[in-house]
Amino acid sequence: MKAKKMDYPNSGIKCEVQNCHFYMHGDHCCADKIEVQSKFATDSQETDCATFLPQAQW
Ligand code: SF4
Repeated sequence: MKAKKMDYPNSGIKCEVQNCHFYMHGDHCCADKIEVQSKFATDSQETDCATFLPQAQW
């Protein structure tokens, strides 16, 4: 699932991953959509954002 970077925050998401390409000041995410994995997580520690892209790639 390829996400598009918007020029405004996705209001449904709070994110603290400041080195992500989609991160926006104020703990916002400006991806139009995100994907969360994994399928068989048993608690929140076992989930993460698969849409994450390191800033260095861009
Ligand atoms: S894509 Fe994922 S990791 Fe990156 S800012 Fe959005 S929610 Fe955070």
